[in-house]
Amino acid sequence: MGLSCPKCQSEQVQSISVIVSSGTSLNSGTVVGIGNSGAGFGTTNGVSQTNLAARFSRPRGPSWFLTIWLSFGLIFTAVWLFQISKLAPIVPLAIMVYLVRRDLIKSKEYKAQLAVWERLHNHGFFCYKCGNTFTA
Ligand SMILES: [Zn+2]
Repeated sequence: MGLSCPKCQSEQVQSISVIVSSGTSLNSGTVVGIGNSGAGFGTTNGVSQTNLAARFSRPRGPSWFLTIWLSFGLIFTAVWLFQISKLAPIVPLAIMVYLVRRDLIKSKEYKAQLAVWERLHNHGFFCYKCGNTFTA
């Protein structure tokens, strides 16, 4: 006997890891895009997913890369402003502190989301009849 949904007792259930791996496909091909400057060709190495697979896919963490880049810019701005006024560098430095703090909060939330996701991904099932998600 197969597994059944605890909500509607349907046996049309599938493990979430299977949904994610079967719904995710690697695309590599040529795309034709028409932009403002006319038509163009390009190659893609993208990942395409079904809506269901996308719903259960791994959460994304904060983009530290962008924050680090912005921080460099802000430090240079602070050094430059210091030559004009001793107090002016406070503004870019405050922005930097804000950005780093924001990413730290995001990173904390991400860790919590990832823990939930891992549990669901490794032990979770999805019911095709009622849309219920459960762990077994
Ligand atoms: Zn169900």
